Amino acid sequence: MPHAPGIYLDNAATTPLSEPAREAMEPFLGDRFGNASSVHAPGREARKAVDEARERVAAAIGARPDEVVFTSGGTEADNLAIKGAAWHGREQGRDGVVVSAIEHHAVLDPARWLARQGFRVREVQVDSSGVVSLDALKTAIDDRAAIVSVMWANNEVGSVQPVAGCAALARDAGAVFHSDAVQGVPWLDVDASIAGLISLSAHKVGGPKGVGALIVRRGVKIQALLHGGGQEREIRSGTYNVAGIVGFGAAVEHWIANRAAWADRASALRDRLQRRITGALENVHVSTSEATRLPNNLHLIFGGIDGESLILLLDAAGIAASQGSACSSGAAEPSHVLAAMGVSRDLARGALRLTLGPQTSTADVDRASDAVVEAVKRLRGR
Ligand code: PLP
Repeated sequence: MPHAPGIYLDNAATTPLSEPAREAMEPFLGDRFGNASSVHAPGREARKAVDEARERVAAAIGARPDEVVFTSGGTEADNLAIKGAAWHGREQGRDGVVVSAIEHHAVLDPARWLARQGFRVREVQVDSSGVVSLDALKTAIDDRAAIVSVMWANNEVGSVQPVAGCAALARDAGAVFHSDAVQGVPWLDVDASIAGLISLSAHKVGGPKGVGALIVRRGVKIQALLHGGGQEREIRSGTYNVAGIVGFGAAVEHWIANRAAWADRASALRDRLQRRITGALENVHVSTSEATRLPNNLHLIFGGIDGESLILLLDAAGIAASQGSACSSGAAEPSHVLAAMGVSRDLARGALRLTLGPQTSTADVDRASDAVVEAVKRLRGR
């Protein structure tokens, strides 16, 4: 894996492009430019590459190749799942959409948009460690529910969700179960048989940005968002992003082959990072339960500091970290995930997310923990 300059501890935001992905993509950025829907030789060559990638993506989670619908990324996969299942459900007399309160905005915002179109949308609360309560979910699901969506693991605090239990509740009510596994696939054994719809994104597993997939299990019906050439079983029209799809296939295959070893290593390094920071500072809170978090995620809250200033100080020290909440606008909105966990607005300001990757070394962890301790002390004025 190539090293970015400095220390990169923001692998939940994105990962570096892996060598296997880069190598697999290169021909399709050059001579092999065919349209995978064309019948001639260059088209057939592209189609073959897309189909091989489809097999690799399916194999990563135990799905069938014909269940893979390639999209422009996790955001589109989530939108397609939520809107597509809700619209199909409405035709069957079901107008309920149930989502957890800690979903990525790519799930929450389509659900809220559907609420404005007249769907009955319920957001289910989580406990103080960011895990969905099955009792609360059960109460929220009724026989009008078209879709229930609970993510495999949360992108901010790293809490892993009880997806098998959530899926069973959805199934009992006759609703489709969707899981956003964008953060789950890199670190956990995601089993496609659990859900009807699963969202994936290439750039979290060493693939290129702007490509992902929605797994649509056989028998699950959704409506399309994009109409046109009828690609992907008429579920997702649009000329294939051949290089991106090929990169996704190579990346995910390489990642899954190494995942177990990488997860063990990341979790030991993450524990070391946690020990070094929490041992040197007072008033530090580990946000999630240690029993139910992703192996590469360390989410901390420092009392009495502004996390944004902390990120800037770390950046100046060559360490790329994050507050965890997606704020593409740059607006310092408090995290909806921490709010759902009952963290006060004031305390939530002091959040720091450090997410390790396969490339993270012990030396990185030691340098980063020293930098965090120093920066927090500086911000606290001592
Ligand atoms: N869902 C989750 C849980 C994510 O972490 C992300 C990316 O941050 C997305 C969806 C969106 O994926 P993409 O960046 O491929 O649109």
